[in-house]
Amino acid sequence: MKDVIIIGAGPCGLSAAIECQRQGLSSLIIEKNFIVHSIYLYPTNMQFFSTTELLEIGNVPFTSPNEKPFRHEALVYYRRAAQQYGLEIAAYEEALKVEPQEDGSFSVHTSNLRGEQKVHYAANVVIATGYFDQPNLIGIPGEELPKVTHYFGEAHPYTGMKVTVIGGSNSAVDAALELMRVGASVDMVYHGDRISDNIKPWVRPIFESMVKKDKITLHLQSRVTEITVDSVIITSKDGSKTSLDNDFVLALTGFRPSRVLLTSAGVAMDDDMDKPAFHPETMESDIPGLYVAGVIASGRNANEVFIESGRGHGKLIADHIASKQMTGVKE
Ligand code: FAD
Repeated sequence: MKDVIIIGAGPCGLSAAIECQRQGLSSLIIEKNFIVHSIYLYPTNMQFFSTTELLEIGNVPFTSPNEKPFRHEALVYYRRAAQQYGLEIAAYEEALKVEPQEDGSFSVHTSNLRGEQKVHYAANVVIATGYFDQPNLIGIPGEELPKVTHYFGEAHPYTGMKVTVIGGSNSAVDAALELMRVGASVDMVYHGDRISDNIKPWVRPIFESMVKKDKITLHLQSRVTEITVDSVIITSKDGSKTSLDNDFVLALTGFRPSRVLLTSAGVAMDDDMDKPAFHPETMESDIPGLYVAGVIASGRNANEVFIESGRGHGKLIADHIASKQMTGVKE
């Protein structure tokens, strides 16, 4: 039996595994895809808004010629950090259920790519499953059409196409600019009266200039209310409707964590915020020995935790488990 099983090999799960190892605890990471799968799904050319040192885990230096690194550099960095610490990772194995045992330990039920079911046992479990699997659906007719995606990779496939981008955050702005550069006709639709205040400061002036030059058509205080095979219907705040010819829709409306593993183990949820019950100084949930790390610890606003803040959860957890072991606490 391991001291700790960590579910999810994102930056925060990796950080938790490293911190456990530094405390002399044995650990296994169970990952349904592969290491830092969420970052792998980012837009190919994406530049982080964080500086390299704020993305570091386990005191492994993140060196880059760029103050704010690009996606491909982060893939290399987290791979190296995991290799440097020799982390044990069961890749392509999905955790389906976490069951507290009578003696205070846990069983974690998994399934791998070959459909084989396994059960792992650990004294403690850290759930670090992030939020990237579950896009925020808009809930409008046509959202299920194959021309609609919630994930933007790169602009090339959209060359010469009419593309509607839904959203007003960094993801939407970055995508709109990339699409414009490959010759797509871009309409961006956002319900707010201005795009997010958090747009990367070096990107904002370029975006605003492109809107002024009519290279990107920005529809503020508006919502896409229907998508058909060849159009989108945009409804503005005053109720007026506009139909636009359309080939593809990028609904970049963010993500929210799945709580299935937490609820399977019996962790209490805050009714209002859909937030798991946990102690912020230890990240331990209301089930002793069961911890949360990274974005899964956020409430309805998943952006309240990100790599910069969530990478520190692992140390809190490892310190707490180690101190329990030292004092022989058995809850
Ligand atoms: P994740 O990185 O989402 O990792 C969770 C892992 O769990 C995944 O690998 C997933 O496959 C695995 N998993 C899920 N369910 C299971 C299961 N049942 N069994 C096994 N494995 C499972 N943050 C910053 O700090 N700075 C930035 O500049 C920044 N830029 C961003 C840009 C974009 C485009 C996006 C989308 C996000 C950005 N973020 C940034 C936010 C950051 O990506 C997330 O906060 C971060 O990925 C959270 O890490 P995590 O380890 O909690 O979860």
